[in-house]
Formats: sequence, C-alpha cells, structure tokens
Amino acid sequence: MARKYEGHAVGIDLGTTYSCVAVWLDQKNRVDIIHNDEGNKITPSFVAFTDDQRLVGDAAKDQAAINPENTVFDAKRLIGRKFNDPVVQKDMMLWPFKVISGVNEKPMVTVKYKGQEKLLCAEEISSIVLTKMKEIAEAYLKSPVKSAVVTVPAYFNDAQRKATMDAGAIAGLNVMRIINEPTAAAIAYGLDNKDNYDGERNIFVFDLGGGTFDVSLLTIKGDVFEVKATAGNTHLGGADIDNRLLNYFVEEFKRKNKVDITRNPRALRRLRTACEKAKRTLSFQLVTAIEIDYLCDGIDFSSSITRGKFEEINMDLFNECIETVKSCLNDSKIEKSSVDDIVLVGGSSRIPKVQELLSDFFNGKDLCKNINPDEAVAHGAAVQAALLSECIKNVPNLVLRDVIPLSLGINLNGGIMSVVISRNTSIPVKKRQGYVTAFDNQYSVPIKVYEGERARSSDNNLLGFFNLSCLPGAPHGHPLDVCFTIDDNGVLNVSAMEKSTGNTNEITITNEKERLSREEIKKLIQEAEEYRAEDEEFLRKAKVRNALDDCFYKLRKALKNTDLKSKLSSQKVRKINRAITVASNLLHKNNLQNEVDVLEDHVQELESMLADLEVKTL
Ligand code: ADP
Ligand code: MG
Repeated sequence: MARKYEGHAVGIDLGTTYSCVAVWLDQKNRVDIIHNDEGNKITPSFVAFTDDQRLVGDAAKDQAAINPENTVFDAKRLIGRKFNDPVVQKDMMLWPFKVISGVNEKPMVTVKYKGQEKLLCAEEISSIVLTKMKEIAEAYLKSPVKSAVVTVPAYFNDAQRKATMDAGAIAGLNVMRIINEPTAAAIAYGLDNKDNYDGERNIFVFDLGGGTFDVSLLTIKGDVFEVKATAGNTHLGGADIDNRLLNYFVEEFKRKNKVDITRNPRALRRLRTACEKAKRTLSFQLVTAIEIDYLCDGIDFSSSITRGKFEEINMDLFNECIETVKSCLNDSKIEKSSVDDIVLVGGSSRIPKVQELLSDFFNGKDLCKNINPDEAVAHGAAVQAALLSECIKNVPNLVLRDVIPLSLGINLNGGIMSVVISRNTSIPVKKRQGYVTAFDNQYSVPIKVYEGERARSSDNNLLGFFNLSCLPGAPHGHPLDVCFTIDDNGVLNVSAMEKSTGNTNEITITNEKERLSREEIKKLIQEAEEYRAEDEEFLRKAKVRNALDDCFYKLRKALKNTDLKSKLSSQKVRKINRAITVASNLLHKNNLQNEVDVLEDHVQELESMLADLEVKTL
C-alpha cells in the first residue's frame, strides 16, 4: 500500500441529496455507519443561511420551505463546472437559490447571511457538508478525524474530482483518495459476501439516487475489484419521480377546484414534500393518502394514490433505467446470465417496480438486498480509508481497478477518428498501433489526440496535439508507431515514433481544463447513437476516398517504373493515365460531396488495373 495516514480515517459518501459517513473499527473488525445528532444515518446535503446562523443537514432541509432563497442543495451538480455549462444553466431554472457567474466563469451561489450578501462556490458548499460529516464522526469516535476517502460518481471528470478534493481540503480533511461510488458499493458487498464464493465473480451495481442514476459492472477476483463498464444518466432519480407525482396532483387540484397552484411557490413546495413522502410510503404500502390543510386559496387538499397509479405515471422513467442497464452490459461484453450478483444502491432503488423490472431483465434473478442501499457507498469508502491508514491492522486487503469512460484515439487523414484505446478499457493500460504517412515527402506528421465515440474526429473532444518529424523524402505509406499509455491516476501519455530514423515525440495529457463534463460525456455517447447512421455514411465515404488515394499513388508509382512501363502498350498507358487524372480530380474537388457509388466504381476500376500490372511484374 502506497501511503499510510495517521489518526482515524473515515469514508464519506458525499451525495447530491444525502451524505453518509462510516468508519472501520479495528476492535470490532467491521465498518460502523455513523448516525448524526438527529439519529439518522444519512444527512441531507443541504446548507442554509439565516439572519443569525448557518444550518447544515436535517436542520437546513427542515426550514427550506420558509427560507428557500438561502437554502442551498445540489452543490454536487455545480462542482467542477463552469457557469455556462448547459447542465448548470438548466438546473438553475429549478433552484430557488440564485447562481451568478464569478471569476473564470465559476458559478457562485448568492445567499443572505446575517443581513449581508454572501457568495459561495460549489467547493465551499460541499466543504460545509463535509465538515458536518467530519463532526458527526468525531462526536461518535470521541477523537479528531483528519483524513477521509470521499466517493464520486464513476463518470466524474478530472475537474470534478479535483474540485471535490478541494472541498475536502476546505473542510480541513486530508482526502486520501477519491474513489468511484459503484466501486465503493461493490467493496461493501464483495467483502460482506467474500466467504460465499471463490474464483471470479461479476457484480452489477444499480445506483438510483435522488437526482442521478449510475450503473457499473465489476468483477471481483481474489482481492482485485475491477470495473468493466459504467453507464448512467445525470438527470434521472428520485426528484424526477417526485415531479411526476407533483404534476399528477396539480392536475387533480385543478380539476377539482379550478385553481392552478403552479403560480403559488409555497403551495407547490408543500405539495412536493408531501409527494416525496407518499412515494416513500408506496415502497412498502399499496396505497397512501395525501392531506394538506389550506394548500392554496384556503382550500384543503385531500387525496390518495395507489402503487399501481404511481407505477403507471413513472413507467417511462423506470424503463429508461433498464435501457441504461442494457447499454452497460453491452459495453462490458458480459452476458446477463453471467452476472452473479445485482447490488441495489441509492434510496430510489427501494421502489418495488424498479426492483421487479430489474429482476425480470436478469431473467428473474434475485436481487441482493443484504446491504443497505443508503449505506453501501460510505461502507466501501470506509474500508478503503482503513486500508490507507497507519493504525488499522485487521482490514482485508483489496485492489481497485477502474476503466476509461470515453474512447481515445488519433485523427487520420480524411478526418476519421482512429480509436487506439476503446471506452471501458481498464486502467492502467498501454497500447501501440501502427500507422502510415498519407503523402509523399512529408516533413512532419501532425498527431492529434481525441476522446469520444463519434466516427469523425472533429465531432469528438481534442485533448492535445504534437508534430512528429519524418524522414525527408519518405514516400506515402511510410510506417509510424503511436503508443498510448494511461497510468493509475488516469493520466494519458501519447508518443509517436518514425521507425526508420527513430525520431520520437510525445505529450502528456492531464486534462486539467479540457476534460469533458459528465453531462457532455453522456451527450457524446447519446449523440453517437443518434448519429450512427450518419457516421457510417461518413466512414464509407472516407474509406473509399482513402482507397482511391492509395490506388492513385500505386498506379503513379507503377508508371514511373520504366521496366514495367516498357511492357505495356501505349494504349494501356494512356488508359492508366486517364484513370489517374480522373482519380486526382475526384480526390481534389471537395470529394466527400461525391456520390459514394461513383468513387467506389472508380476504385474498382483502378484496383483491376493494379491487379493487371501486378501480374505483369511477375
Ligand atoms: P444521492 O446519492 O443522489 O444523494 P440517495 O441515494 O440518498 O441520493 O437517494 C435519495 C433519493 O431516494 C430521494 O429522492 C428519496 O426520495 C429516495 N428514497 C429514499 N427512500 C425511498 C423509498 N423508501 N422509496 C422510494 N424512494 C426513496
Ligand atoms: Mg448516492
């Protein structure tokens, strides 16, 4: 193990809606989930400011309805993002608190605290929640807590991870490591059930939280936990389900009383709270009532909803979850019948219909319910924290391995993305790929490194660029070697070598600023699906153009061979020359506009000429 830390080290699940803290206790040989001062094991990730105090957790959430502008939540949606990020812009419309653009486009939440305006960045808000979690642990352990392992969604990018570490630092915590939430959940599950199996085990983690949905497929082999694939949706969770219920009752109120409560924010807030409560009740009862006195214009609201109706109005959201499960399994290349355990994580995974659909998808397989969906992530983080701690002796050993969320590759002549390392490959990884130069006499070859799933490089995200000097006078088709290396921390290094001279050049891409946001990643994957047909057409054209280019060079080279030329009739030479001119014209106009069939026909003609010449050279 790399570094050891002094003192108690805790695991913190810093959630969008709820946070949880846990610790490994050597004397008990197990993890304890720590309850807060209100006796709850999860604490709302809420911070509120009033005329005389700052509130955190349950206290902040409880007063949200009377102090909406100064009650801040969802900081995890802001962290590591710029103000103009579409995710921030979209979320802002729903938040009762105000967000403005600060220095370097950093989103800043504005609140009134003790009569004065105060600006807070996402790291600060998260640090307040982290401080609360630290204090909860200190009260329980009766000793200071200095270090923690903090979890983030698997899709979090470098900027979001770094910002989370900064939040820890602001909270006075030494963040020993940032680990992925599904990996943490799998640790909790895997260690609890380790004795039940030997050999390799495939674990599917299904995490449906308050505002996000994440799934991951991991394999556990001995002490090694390896993520095979991840997928998710940044805007799918309990809040969306609450919204569906809210709209349902708004309509009912309108129908019964001819009053639209959407113009009354306070009434809407009260109804939303009642909806969330009803949703929770429907997870263990078949019908529930909603009673709110003086909801709007002095009218009381009294209604009820059955589990069946609840399922009906949310069915498309539930089905969307299953689609994401499918796509993760496809990426992992593991058959669903080979999944050994399905682990439920996140409060919304308690919904019976979600569980039923998931179990049906896995052909009726039982879901693992022996770990608490609210606590699994913090539990795993606590195990990892203990592993990194000085004073802990008994914690079981384990090794974590993650994957890259997007494919990495270089741009080829014609604007095609050539993938070197595909999405969901485990890190660390090293891959070498051979290429050839596109033209005669190239002095240098530009190596442009991209990430993304689209066929056209320009549709992906440019990560870096360098030039590789070439052997002067080298003909087209001269070999080059490109090597991609990603280390344990996800840092990418790309090097290229021109083989005959041994010339090399390389760059290290740390993605400090350029990395895509989680939402952008998802958008890229989604776009890739939507535009797959368009991409295929583009690829077909680019390929035929490259083939034409290749034939063109080969035929021109053949005609320069005087020996060979002497064996050909002058009519044949004229015919080849004509074909070369046509090829050149097709290539030098903006040929991607050319009908692909015309290009393919011409390639066929040139190929048969080449075949003919090859026979002659024998
Ligand atoms: P996050 O990780 O995003 O912070 P959580 O995993 O804590 O979120 O999940 C919180 C969500 O789970 C909330 O939307 C809450 O309403 C929902 N939830 C909690 N318990 C239940 C339940 N029994 N049935 C349905 N939804 C629930
Ligand atoms: Mg969570």
